[in-house]
Amino acid sequence: MRILVVDDNLADRMIANRMLCESNPNWVVEEADSVTNAKELLSKFHFDVVLLDYLMPEARGTEHITTLRAEAHLGVGAIVMMSTVNSEPVIQRCLKAGAQDFIVKTELDSKRMERIFLHAKKNYETERELLSSHEHVKYVSERDPLTGLLNRYHFIKRLENDVLMRSNKTKPSALLLLDINKFRFINDDFGHHFGDELILTVVRKLLQECEQTQTLCRLHADCFGIAMPHYSSQNEINRFAQKLLTAVNAPLLVNGIQVRLTVSMGIAVYPNDASKATELIQRAEIAMYRAKNLGTNTICYFESNMQNEFSWSFKIESSIAELIADNKFNVNYQPIYNCKTKDILGYEALLRWPTDCGEYEPDEFIPIAEQSKLIIPLGKWAAERAIADLKTLQLHSELKLSMSINVSPLQLISEGFSEMIKSALRKHEIPYDQLIVEITETALMYNNSDIQSVLRELSAAGIKIALDDFGTGFSSISHLMNFPVNIVKVDKSLFQLENGQLKHMSLLRGLVIMLQGLDLLVIAEGVEHHHQHVFCEELKLDKLQGFLFGKPVPLSRLTDA
Ligand code: C2E
Ligand code: CA
Ligand code: CA
Repeated sequence: MRILVVDDNLADRMIANRMLCESNPNWVVEEADSVTNAKELLSKFHFDVVLLDYLMPEARGTEHITTLRAEAHLGVGAIVMMSTVNSEPVIQRCLKAGAQDFIVKTELDSKRMERIFLHAKKNYETERELLSSHEHVKYVSERDPLTGLLNRYHFIKRLENDVLMRSNKTKPSALLLLDINKFRFINDDFGHHFGDELILTVVRKLLQECEQTQTLCRLHADCFGIAMPHYSSQNEINRFAQKLLTAVNAPLLVNGIQVRLTVSMGIAVYPNDASKATELIQRAEIAMYRAKNLGTNTICYFESNMQNEFSWSFKIESSIAELIADNKFNVNYQPIYNCKTKDILGYEALLRWPTDCGEYEPDEFIPIAEQSKLIIPLGKWAAERAIADLKTLQLHSELKLSMSINVSPLQLISEGFSEMIKSALRKHEIPYDQLIVEITETALMYNNSDIQSVLRELSAAGIKIALDDFGTGFSSISHLMNFPVNIVKVDKSLFQLENGQLKHMSLLRGLVIMLQGLDLLVIAEGVEHHHQHVFCEELKLDKLQGFLFGKPVPLSRLTDA
């Protein structure tokens, strides 16, 4: 064991040195007459224990302990204090400051010395081990296990206790949220291991763009928060946000596969937008959802009116959950006609908000049901209702009527979807081919394997698949070739033609010829005027739907005749 005796009194130093050598002849003892000289020796050599005099001219004993401990590079091990006075408060203060033991000079005794020093060394080592395991536990609890970034809980704490505490109107701070779009589909298609690697790659990219004062955290799976303290202008935030966006947009190579990501960003600033950390995160989240709705790679700042919209959506979302539970939604049915004979061939089921609970259009409440995933139970309810009502409608008609139901992508990949549909049809003894499942092109855009297999399963059973709102989105021919689509519904916006809009008409004509060439059955949507019907006949469309012949109505209106 190597010991350093630090005492300004030569006689005391010599006594201590002698006692230590007597207690164990193998110990190496060195001396220093001041803390400054002790530091010099400590910086050159390792000592297991420092025996430090409490009363030294430079400062108080406890201060010496603190300085020696603070200078980590000195690698000070155990500290044993010695003093001429035997005062309990002094002993306690020294132990609190970081000493391992305390001896009174008048009681120095070579027999006890060995035990005290071995003890002090052991105590110090145990304290170190405890500290490092405490630090490990703290690290694990504060960090996201995959990326090592702060987790949500501790990010909020950091915002509260550090960033926002030091911000005010003249020194504002910003919070940026960055959410990867459609990350779920990547996980589904390439597996979770790939998803994890991708997240790590994104984190590396983001960290490269962050400065030391900016804290990056993983709020949840594919959503990151970045605290930007004390920005000087909105331009500075814009530039930083753009840098982050560009970094994540660049092609990323993960396990040999090149991926291109798109993201949505929401930004809120303190103290303008919020007064607390949790509020600031919530505001940035609202802005981020707005950015998502506006399209990919959009950056949105929080605005106070968004809070109202958010509250409005939140109110609708809560009502949807209640109305499903209370079985209060309605379904209306719009007839679909044979373009030539004008016979009713079937109906499209369209959800309706109950009339006695406010007035919300499907275009208002369905997107909210989709965002909150409530579309899964709501869509199931609507599909089962429509299939049951098809039986009733068929009993009132001599023709083999079909029923079209609208199905959102989330619903399509929800557990047991195709079995739910098939069992509802079996329950009412309706042949599978009398049901048409309408999906929009966005469902096919990600080429998701689950969507493809559900559609194949439905199609193999005989259920028809219709591509809805065709002509509004991507209108990709490859979707028509790669997915088992039987019917294409040409969107109503394409039929809004005035006489003489020749260019538009020739475009429609070309589109219809292409669809018919692919052996697809074509339905015109939104036929409101006589001239539109005439044009549909001219194009030899199979079916049509629109206010000219029939609006969506409740079942009772169709069966009460
Ligand atoms: P969609 O599937 O394109 O449904 C056709 C929409 O066009 C319906 O609006 C219908 O009332 C309207 N419409 C029909 N004929 C005409 C016409 O001649 N002129 C005009 N201007 N409009 C016409 P609605 O009922 O408001 O539904 C809007 C959208 O809500 C639907 O568009 C569909 O995407 C969605 N939706 C409705 N019910 C369901 C459902 O049960 N599940 C899902 N996932 N979505 C649904
Ligand atoms: Ca539809
Ligand atoms: Ca449609």
